[in-house]
Amino acid sequence: MNPAKREQIFARWKAANPEPKTELAYNSPFELLISVLLSAQATDVSVNNATKALYAEADTAEKMLALGEERVRHHIRTIGLFNTKAKNVIKTCQILHERHNGVVPADREALEALPGVGRKTANVVLNTAFRQIAMAVDTHIFRVSNRTAIAPGKDVVEVEKKLLKFVPREYLLDAHHWLILHGRYICVARTPKCPECPINDLCEFKQKTQPGQKAKSGSTKKSAAAKKTGLTKKAHSRTKASSRKKASSAKQAGSTIKAKTKSNRV
Ligand code: SF4
Repeated sequence: MNPAKREQIFARWKAANPEPKTELAYNSPFELLISVLLSAQATDVSVNNATKALYAEADTAEKMLALGEERVRHHIRTIGLFNTKAKNVIKTCQILHERHNGVVPADREALEALPGVGRKTANVVLNTAFRQIAMAVDTHIFRVSNRTAIAPGKDVVEVEKKLLKFVPREYLLDAHHWLILHGRYICVARTPKCPECPINDLCEFKQKTQPGQKAKSGSTKKSAAAKKTGLTKKAHSRTKASSRKKASSAKQAGSTIKAKTKSNRV
C-alpha cells in the first residue's frame, strides 16, 4: 500500500471519530491496567460488567490487596479464566505496592514484569493511559492490517513494527483505537462488511464481500454499535457533507484558509 492511501484511510477514520477511546471503562491507569489484564480472551462488555462493582470496592492496589483474592475471584467470576486472572490481579497489586508505591509505572519493562501483563497489555496501558506511541496488536488489528495491506505481517510483532513505521505520524497516537474499532465492527473476522466499509475504495483485500452477501451472526448488534462509533460508510458520508457545510460557512465568515484545510483532510 502506498503512503497516500494510508494517509487517506486514517484521515477518514479521524474525520468520523476524532477522539477514539477504548471501550473498557476505567478512571485511572490502575483501573485500566486491571481491566486490560482481565480482558484477555473476554469481551470489553463482560469486563466492564464485572469491574463496575470491583472498582467501587477497590480502585487502588492497596485496596485490592485488602479485598483479597477470594473476593476478587467472586467479582470477576463471569469472565473467562477468572481463577488465573484473580491470582494475577493480586500478585500484580503486591508488586505495585512493594516496588512502585502503588503507582502504575509508565515504563514497558516494569509493566511487562507484572504477572499476566504481556507486550500487548503493556502497549495498551502505555498508549491509552500514558499517551505514549505504542501499538497493541490484537486479533482485530492483526486482521485489519493484513487484509487492507496497511501493515501486512506474518505475526503480531511484525505487524506492530510495520504499523509504527508506516502509520503517518499525526495518527500514530490514536491508530490503535481506530484499527481495533474498524476490526470489531466493520472488518469482522468471518464476513467483513465491505459494502458498508468507509475505506472500501482504499482497501487492498482481494476477497471483499459483495452487496447482498449476508453477514454472519452478531452483525445486527455490531452494525448498531458501528453506527454509534461513526464507522459506517453512511456515517463517513455524513461527516463529509457536514465538513463541506462547515467549510462553506467558514468561507462566508472570511475563514477561507482554515475551512480549506479541514475540507481537504476528509
Ligand atoms: S473493504 Fe472489506 S476487507 Fe477491506 S477493510 Fe473494509 S471491511 Fe475490511
